[in-house]
Amino acid sequence: MSYAKRKNCTIIRRCGGCGKKKSFVCSGKFRVNANGRRLDVWLIYRCEKCGRTLNVPIYERVPPERIPPELYDRFLENDRKLAVEYAGDRGFLKGLGYELGK
Ligand SMILES: [Zn+2]
Repeated sequence: MSYAKRKNCTIIRRCGGCGKKKSFVCSGKFRVNANGRRLDVWLIYRCEKCGRTLNVPIYERVPPERIPPELYDRFLENDRKLAVEYAGDRGFLKGLGYELGK
């Protein structure tokens, strides 16, 4: 699917802040965490009601060489197109077990 046709998916999930099921929307931001020789990369979603964050894992505990440097830079820069590539990819999100909104 072309970039222009992609739309961010919402994730339906119980929110610990609201105490009930809410829609989480993509914040467009990534979070990168380095822990020794392991890297985590998440795409950050937020509850549309209270703003509580949900970290959607893209990479978890991978050695740094697993992530192409060019891609890694885009995570650090919060590249918006890249965020939409993940947030618009229903297969990616479903594969992680999330329930998706429309
Ligand atoms: Zn909430």
